[in-house]
Amino acid sequence: MLTDIEIAQRAKMEPIEKIAEKIGVKAEELEFYGNDKAKLSGAVWERVKTNSDGKLVLVTAINPTPAGEGKTTTTVGLGQAMAKIGKKAMIALREPSLGPVMGIKGGAAGGGYAQVVPMEDINLHFTGDFHAITAANNLLCAMIDNHIMQGNALGIDPTKIAFKRVMDMNDRALRQVVVGLGGKTNGYVREDGFMITVASEVMAILCMAENLTDLKARLGRIVIGYTYDGAEVKARDLKAEGAMCALLKDAIKPNLVQTLENTPCLMHGGPFANIAHGCNSVQATKLALKLSDYVITEAGFGADLGAEKFLDIKCRVANLKPSAVVLVATVRALKYNGGVAKADLGEENTEALSRGIVNLGKHIENLRLYGIPVIVAINRFGQDTDAELKMIEQYCLDNGADFALSEVFAKGGEGGVALAEKLVDVIERTESRFAPIYDETLPIKEKIETIVKKIYGGDGVSYTAAAEKQIAALEQVGYGKLPVCMAKTQYSLSDDAKLLGRPSGFTVTVKEVRVFAGAGFVTVYAGSIMTMPGLPKSPAAERIDISENGVISGLF
Ligand code: ADP
Ligand code: MG
Repeated sequence: MLTDIEIAQRAKMEPIEKIAEKIGVKAEELEFYGNDKAKLSGAVWERVKTNSDGKLVLVTAINPTPAGEGKTTTTVGLGQAMAKIGKKAMIALREPSLGPVMGIKGGAAGGGYAQVVPMEDINLHFTGDFHAITAANNLLCAMIDNHIMQGNALGIDPTKIAFKRVMDMNDRALRQVVVGLGGKTNGYVREDGFMITVASEVMAILCMAENLTDLKARLGRIVIGYTYDGAEVKARDLKAEGAMCALLKDAIKPNLVQTLENTPCLMHGGPFANIAHGCNSVQATKLALKLSDYVITEAGFGADLGAEKFLDIKCRVANLKPSAVVLVATVRALKYNGGVAKADLGEENTEALSRGIVNLGKHIENLRLYGIPVIVAINRFGQDTDAELKMIEQYCLDNGADFALSEVFAKGGEGGVALAEKLVDVIERTESRFAPIYDETLPIKEKIETIVKKIYGGDGVSYTAAAEKQIAALEQVGYGKLPVCMAKTQYSLSDDAKLLGRPSGFTVTVKEVRVFAGAGFVTVYAGSIMTMPGLPKSPAAERIDISENGVISGLF
């Protein structure tokens, strides 16, 4: 069997203007980055904005194993399969971050015969969007420290600066640093820290922004910290938003690439699914809906986090109406939810599977609460046995859930035809009555409680004293009506990674609440959330190489 990168390198890519042609985009509306990557200029939106919208399909998953359950792979494969059954479809994905590529997880452009290409470029620097975001973010940091050194006219309290420097790499040594060392001319000495670029508010803002004007306004609203008197200091108080927005002038344009089977894919933005909302940009999704009949998109982590935030934040704010949700389930993740250790997931174990399958059941119930039809995609792995696969199918039948076996990893679009047919059938016979799960005008605590009780299946929420104070303060300043962005473990429906399957009788503890005023949500921290990951003992980077002819190996 070939590796992902070997498959990707054998792809017969079409020139990117050919891919654009498939979605009615003219060559003069493209900004080329080589032969097989292009940005769509603002002219495209202006021309198509009054077109009717296609159908939006979200791909999400059950609670995963640490290896990922194949949401991206399924998204890409389903996009390819839609073309096989004669439908005009497009894919809308996030761009990969360099940290995971060099660490444990590897790339984020699909797998097997369901990939987006050029895989190396996409996983490495792509069109430079993340570097631009890094630069815009760090410009604001430089302006903050400079302002303090130059007399601090705004009275910024250096111990209350919330806005951190970023870098798109897993570098744990930078989690906590001291800046300004070396004497008076080097600035004010204070503790600071780095986050990974994808965890930054600037990334979340780029993904929520409708256009340049909105982007600039949102950047200006970033709360960087507080004055000695406890008043908010915003990026616009430092007059930073214009220059930040200028640095993002190209990053804000969606990137067009293709799959192994030449299906058009817009890849744009990549906010973390923990402290941020975890899906590609609003602009790319809206544009894709104007350019094709079906748009297949993905949200990070399991459905309790990714789908919840996609539906309650992105779709609410951007006024999107998803037509269906594809819920990816795997034999191995259901066995993991049934208590099998990571190392033993390759062995047949129908008993563990039957214990863990309640996790699938809960996610099906949850997604139905949003009024959207659900289709379970059983993502087949090589080791899965027929008995195990049958068991998931029977469970879906017993629960009245539509399902299809997906073999896109091994077979590409052909392996997703059953899923594509099922999807089209479900969309044609079921009307989506999508509505978010909570009313955004409710107090912050009621919004959190709705999610914990209805989606996680918990009994309630407890708050640390610090969180209580923060919530009161945020409501006082007027942030109480923003949607909430939950940050918790992806491995459990609860806030405890060890509570697998379908836990009950738990309460979720909220430790911290912060406003991301530019992105437009209040992030609720249930558990300690990593905003600067580290590399593992043997990082993927050790195995990545490039030959004298420029051929890259070891990416996966
Ligand atoms: P997610 O988007 O859910 O995190 P990915 O689609 O990125 O998951 O897949 C995670 C990893 O699993 C990737 O390395 C991918 O190649 C691999 N993978 C996904 N589906 C399969 C499958 N059916 N068989 C083998 N490997 C798979
Ligand atoms: Mg993914």
